[in-house]
Amino acid sequence: MEPNQRPVRLLVFGRQGAGKGTQAVRLAERYGVPHISTGDMLRAAVKEGTEFGRRAKEIMDAGQLVPDEVMLGVISERLAQDDAASGWLLDGFPRTLQQGKDLVALVGEDGIDLAVDLEVPEEVVVERISSRRVCSECGAIYSTAAPPSSPWTCDKCGGQVVQRDDDTEEAVRERLAIYAEQTLPAVAWFGDQGLLATVDGTGDVDDVTERLVAAIESRVG
Ligand SMILES: [Zn+2]
Repeated sequence: MEPNQRPVRLLVFGRQGAGKGTQAVRLAERYGVPHISTGDMLRAAVKEGTEFGRRAKEIMDAGQLVPDEVMLGVISERLAQDDAASGWLLDGFPRTLQQGKDLVALVGEDGIDLAVDLEVPEEVVVERISSRRVCSECGAIYSTAAPPSSPWTCDKCGGQVVQRDDDTEEAVRERLAIYAEQTLPAVAWFGDQGLLATVDGTGDVDDVTERLVAAIESRVG
């Protein structure tokens, strides 16, 4: 794939298990823009000891969720860095309607080219995640469809292969419900602004990337 030199500013939405992280990395490479993930940003801000980083650390150390205005501060600092001057891809932000409105207020109405929403049916992501099994020693990933050759002993290290607590169907459905409650209103709002493209996230990873690129090209090309 040839990188497209046109600067793009993209948001990527998608619930857990939709393949958002994988596609975000691919799109950022394709367009030559930084892949900015909220988790990475928070860790970097904490490490660098910025004002927002220190506040965020205090809040997280107290076991609380980082408030919208703190998140926005971290995003604002990140987007001001040189590598984001001509484009960026945000992954994991905005997570709420308020964060979405804050972002538009920060970058301006023309400051976002497109938000893409990776659409994968709930039953598909529940199956993807709840079938996952992980080596408790080395972290190697298996699934009920592709187990280690000697169940359930890791082929790589001999460790025990287990289902993580976070990967049970109950835990997955709980997180999907939180996404539906907190994030879908933000997705819908970007739709109302005429900034949203919904893309089929099922099937082959390369095919999904091409669908995303087609949606972006039809907007910014
Ligand atoms: Zn292992």
